[in-house]
Amino acid sequence: MTQDTEAKAKVGAIIVPVTLFEQNCTIIWCEATKKAVVIDPGGDVDRILAAIRHTGVTVEKIWLTHGHIDHVGGAAELRDALKVPIEGPHQADGFMLDHVVESGARFGMVGVRNFKTDRFLAEGDQVSVGEFVFDVLHCPGHSPGSVVFFSKELRFAHVGDVLFNGSVGRTDLPGGSHATLIKSIKEKLLPLGDDVSFVCGHGAGSSIGQERMTNPFITGEL
Ligand SMILES: [Zn+2]
Ligand SMILES: [Zn+2]
Repeated sequence: MTQDTEAKAKVGAIIVPVTLFEQNCTIIWCEATKKAVVIDPGGDVDRILAAIRHTGVTVEKIWLTHGHIDHVGGAAELRDALKVPIEGPHQADGFMLDHVVESGARFGMVGVRNFKTDRFLAEGDQVSVGEFVFDVLHCPGHSPGSVVFFSKELRFAHVGDVLFNGSVGRTDLPGGSHATLIKSIKEKLLPLGDDVSFVCGHGAGSSIGQERMTNPFITGEL
């Protein structure tokens, strides 16, 4: 068994699609300790709690990739249900956490709440779950405070809405910038290595190598 496969055998993950935006709420856990993190609980908290019970893991933290409603709508409710801290996003998305109720109302999302994070994240910070450490990369463009979680050991990243399988995040929302987004992807994500696989905020995941070679926003076709 290679070192790489050994590392992957030590981690578990499931995706729970939530909200009308089919956002990929992701539960990742360390198999050795069964300690878990919930990334981007956008809503449908009952379904997230059912998935947690089903896997039998102990959630230690909630991580947020950015402040958009489909990623944070269920954060306050899940935090109260599990009594765990929220880490992320970057402070530049802080203003969105104060307007969750307003944003939710636009899409008919009821029961969402404004909240404060327990820890804003910045470039170079590290977050941990069980035995795994993830580096925090600040990748503005889709939103000003988007962050990516990267595990060097697992060769795995959660990229939020920065990069998608065959596409990139939209940049027409407050604080968005397409030029900044492409710069984030080229300067922060591509250097992680072609072998790094990722989960993104919507749709199927991919790998950095696959996107570097075929994603039209990166190859320059778009
Ligand atoms: Zn978003
Ligand atoms: Zn999203």
